[in-house]
Amino acid sequence: MAGVTLAEVGLTYPDGHTALTGVDLEVADGEFVALVGPSGSGKTTLLRTVAGFLAPSRGTVAIGGEPVASPGAGVPPEGRRLGMVFQQHAIWPHMSVGANVAYPLRRARRPRAEIGERVTEVLALVGLDGYADRNPATLSGGQRQRVALARALAPTPRVLLLDEALSALDEPLRDQLRVELRSLTRQLGLTVIHVTHDRDEALALADRIAVLDAGAIVQVDTPERLLHEPATPFVAGFLSDATLLPGELTDSGFVADEHPLRLARDVVVGPGRGSGTLAVLPGDVVLHEGAPGGEEGRAEVVSSLYGRTASDVIVDWHGLRLRAESDGRPVVGARVRPEVRRALFYPDVAGTAG
Ligand code: ADP
Ligand code: MG
Repeated sequence: MAGVTLAEVGLTYPDGHTALTGVDLEVADGEFVALVGPSGSGKTTLLRTVAGFLAPSRGTVAIGGEPVASPGAGVPPEGRRLGMVFQQHAIWPHMSVGANVAYPLRRARRPRAEIGERVTEVLALVGLDGYADRNPATLSGGQRQRVALARALAPTPRVLLLDEALSALDEPLRDQLRVELRSLTRQLGLTVIHVTHDRDEALALADRIAVLDAGAIVQVDTPERLLHEPATPFVAGFLSDATLLPGELTDSGFVADEHPLRLARDVVVGPGRGSGTLAVLPGDVVLHEGAPGGEEGRAEVVSSLYGRTASDVIVDWHGLRLRAESDGRPVVGARVRPEVRRALFYPDVAGTAG
């Protein structure tokens, strides 16, 4: 087992495109870290850099305290003792399930008896006891993904790298495999880096989540802290669908730049004063239906999606699309008065204002 450390890792592709800009990330031994971010933010690039398929342009990668990559020097992927699973189950259709799982062990020239034992063992681990002789074509998508996982686990990797490994599966199979993946990796004490674009999956599985934006990590934290104390407006928007709006914070409260919204100082969380960005989490908005109020309080429901715990509602409030969670089930077109009970304020950083 081993932790993974990235220090100031930058990566520029041969065409000049910079995909990673100084990534620092420390994944502890046995920790399950989810890596999330918008499409194109560099998640796959980061994972492939850890795996050794890409070499960083600067910075270093260490596994178990041992440097495996720095510019000009690198341990090849097969020397890193990592397991990897991708979205598209890359199992070989012309080999039996058992032969697929045995493949990395055969390449490592392990004794035949040991290979047979290990294949049986890892197939049982992923719930495919007795499937060794099956043709992969006869398996479901979920079972093929289990084969890919078994193959990654067979050589006893130090770290498991997953790139959208569950994303191609349908519910409820995906949910089931999520649960199994979590208990399996915990049981094995495996260090895991799990790339996913699915925010709920990341929140459900990870000890900590790293949020990537444009090739840089903007926050690494526990799911609870990411939801309640997002470090930047981007994180609040990306993970929690916060509504963002610019304005000015003074000692008496927040005044939006181009919107009637005014908030008392005691409902605004955040340091300092001056101009900046307000982030309103959907759970902090209450929609009063049919309630009287001044013209500035009027908003209209433009979208309302019913959900298990709350309706996901968007209202048009003087041109601002404000997202809210509602216990009720407001109908599109209904007039409501939004009340912001709490909001997060992020002062503009000098030099990046505007
Ligand atoms: P993600 O997995 O988060 O969607 P990627 O790591 O695949 O993001 O890509 C990050 C950025 O690098 C994107 O802008 C993408 O277009 C670019 N990119 C990916 N692969 C290459 C490549 N081989 N050459 C040049 N640019 C690439
Ligand atoms: Mg990707």
